[in-house]
Amino acid sequence: MGPASVIRPLTDALGLSDFAMNYYELEPGESFAYGFHAHEKQEEVFYVQEGTVTFETVEGDVEIGAGELIRFGPGEYQQGVNRGDERVVALAMGAPQDAGETEILRECADCGERTPHRLELADGKNAILTICEACGADTGRFT
Ligand SMILES: [Zn+2]
Repeated sequence: MGPASVIRPLTDALGLSDFAMNYYELEPGESFAYGFHAHEKQEEVFYVQEGTVTFETVEGDVEIGAGELIRFGPGEYQQGVNRGDERVVALAMGAPQDAGETEILRECADCGERTPHRLELADGKNAILTICEACGADTGRFT
């Protein structure tokens, strides 16, 4: 379940002690994340192996192509999306492993703006819903 077709957690598989690592494959339109988000305590680096990722940042969009890297500091809002027509293969690394609180912002049609969201399990734990904290609307369903 999640915003990407393939998410393989590598932290435990590799026995990493101080940083977290995930392997991702994004089909066109998919993302690494549920929304524009920031981790309270974690610094993150993304390495794009195939395809092109468009990262939304507070300073505008940044395109990261195959063989390129991008870094975000703790508290820095970002969201990487595959806006191309090619599959994206990428690695995400973050330290420390405990990211602290993660703030997620998503567009809410009911509120008419981007609002803080939380994640909720649904359908007997077979889906994840994104819920607007301001009005309670369900703005996304990930299976
Ligand atoms: Zn709302």
